Amino acid sequence: MNRSIANVLFGGYGNLAKGPKKAVTGTHKETSTAEVCAMLCEAQSVIIVPGYGLAVAQGQYPLAEMVKVLREHGVNVRFGIHPVAGRMPGQLNVLLAEAGIPYDIVLEMDEINEDFKDTDVAMVLGANDVVNPDALDDPDSALAGMPVLHVWEAKQSVMMKRSMAAGYAGVDNPLMFKENNWMYLGDAKKNCEALRDAVKAHYEK
Ligand code: NDP
Repeated sequence: MNRSIANVLFGGYGNLAKGPKKAVTGTHKETSTAEVCAMLCEAQSVIIVPGYGLAVAQGQYPLAEMVKVLREHGVNVRFGIHPVAGRMPGQLNVLLAEAGIPYDIVLEMDEINEDFKDTDVAMVLGANDVVNPDALDDPDSALAGMPVLHVWEAKQSVMMKRSMAAGYAGVDNPLMFKENNWMYLGDAKKNCEALRDAVKAHYEK
């Protein structure tokens, strides 16, 4: 990490940028509850990256139920937490703990970042800036220098949010247009409920 957390949180964006930021363009692919359910149930390993959108929607309870069912059926589900995810330090850790998600599957960014490349599905739930590859790839990005979770290195990634809009920093995110990424659009609570129900139904068949 070459920026302090305080710098990242409070006004550090753009201080390292030296020129015009790269244009972020491309075509995104949308997916559905049924397709995401199939990806999760067929996976051996899943990393979930939660962010502000999960917190604001209060989607942690259906999420916890879905994770429990997947783990009972042998899917290795873990969480990757960015130090500035959400809008308060530790917000996502508290949220997941509240919902009864076991501590031993909730890992900090530095503990899990190397594992994305050996992971079948990375699922981003209401996070955006903390998974923006331009933080690494574009020295002129306003996020340049902020460490991020390498979700695009997983075999497939799913980004769940309501729209194609930018996050807190107002920076476009090329993850949305990556070849191996699918957008699962909708409200975090509603989508987590739909996924929970679909995953339960999959195993009850
Ligand atoms: P971001 O703000 O980057 O992304 C959150 C995403 O959640 C948005 O792009 C939004 O997209 C989506 N979202 C919002 N509401 C919902 C909803 N109801 N359902 C589904 N998705 C939703 O958050 P991150 O957690 O990725 O990153 C945190 C950011 O906040 C960083 O930039 C950090 O520096 C900053 N920050 C963090 C603080 C902290 O202490 N943790 C303090 C101050 C700032 P859409 O609108 O399309 O749904």
